[in-house]
Amino acid sequence: MPRSQPHAGFMNVSVPKETASGERRVALVPDVVERLVGGGLQVTVEAGAGAAASHLDPTYEQAGATIGDGFSGEVVAKVAPPSSEEIGRLGRGKVLIAFLQPLTAADTVRALAEAGVTSFAMEAIPRISRAQSMDALSSQATVTGYRAALIAAQRLPRFFPMLTTAAGTVRPAKVLVLGAGVAGLQAIATSRRLGAVVQAFDVRSAVKEQIESLGARFLELDMGLEDAEAAGGYARQLTEEEQQRQRELLAEEIGRMDAVIATAAVPGRPAPLLVTEQAVKNMSPGSVIVDLAAETGGNCELTEPGETVVKDDVTIVGPLGLASSMADHASALYARNVQSLLELMVSEGELSVDFDDEVLTGACITRDGEIVHEGARQAAGAGPAQPDKSGEAGSRARSEDAGLEAPRS
Ligand code: NAD
Repeated sequence: MPRSQPHAGFMNVSVPKETASGERRVALVPDVVERLVGGGLQVTVEAGAGAAASHLDPTYEQAGATIGDGFSGEVVAKVAPPSSEEIGRLGRGKVLIAFLQPLTAADTVRALAEAGVTSFAMEAIPRISRAQSMDALSSQATVTGYRAALIAAQRLPRFFPMLTTAAGTVRPAKVLVLGAGVAGLQAIATSRRLGAVVQAFDVRSAVKEQIESLGARFLELDMGLEDAEAAGGYARQLTEEEQQRQRELLAEEIGRMDAVIATAAVPGRPAPLLVTEQAVKNMSPGSVIVDLAAETGGNCELTEPGETVVKDDVTIVGPLGLASSMADHASALYARNVQSLLELMVSEGELSVDFDDEVLTGACITRDGEIVHEGARQAAGAGPAQPDKSGEAGSRARSEDAGLEAPRS
């Protein structure tokens, strides 16, 4: 039995079954449905939408959802960007919440505008304190960082921890994490829990303390770099000279590692190339590289996105859609992010989007038939945004703060 009855007329949120290849996550999990229904919303979930994430239809029904048309809601909550067929099912006036890849999926963004959909991209939610609970880039990067460390441990033909046994002593594995953002920090923490000796490098010196607080060592590279922190706490792109110097210095260090977990990214750009073919050659046979940047081209020169390859006796894993490999918890965290965003859009059970709110303005990609997000407009080849009714269309959604790249998920 549903725990609470929805009030007729109150906002309906619907959740379709994901159709993108390999996508196992679902936008809302039963726990979150229960909270939304408790708050007076109606929730419709497509049959089987949560099955790949271990959430079956009867559990959604017990939480108060109706099993039905996943595109029927005033608000449609999804994980992956919609296909053109799905955009056709959305239609004018609908609100869509999903990862939309606003800077790289120009066709999707144009189609959403043409269809008259009001769309909000999870990756474009400004990363400010107030919006932390909605930060799906962080929640999904937590999953991928954890998973990357497990893949490295699983693939390495050596122990991660130090062992003292009757058959002799085993030295701990040396792991290097490149890029200490959300995924990198989680990879460090997980590798440390497994007993590896961990070093990490990032071009933002602010993360040194965070790396050390996790029991890892900050790898000092003599790059002559002041600091490469740019707007929004993200890294800036290094110059070609700086990158070249970094690659040379890293190649030597990498040769001493058993495993490298590469997570370096610059929003809206292809992943920086950090691990050269020479660096791979420097590693001992059996060593492992897990390249989380494979989604945007890879941090390693030899990465083949979506594949696991062995080059120069080193295993190089380039996972795509990694968050889906832990679909239950990835969905649970994502659903909490969506819930927080929905709470910002609802007043007394009804849809009420305040476009003066910087979180909603920052995340809004299309509205009233227009692309209103500045970065997405540029990516779609549209001119500068026209001032909207509030005079601010797109003006706050600077591309450098606004999420920005395909989610490394
Ligand atoms: P990201 O995925 O964009 O990048 C991953 C890491 O790669 C970053 O730490 C970046 O500095 C690093 N990097 C880029 N180029 C590099 C290079 N050439 N060599 C080595 N490392 C390189 O980052 P992210 O995990 O999405 O987060 C980045 C930052 O965003 C955070 O550390 C934080 O400052 C900010 N953030 C803020 C909030 C919030 O306030 N709500 C939440 C999450 C993140």
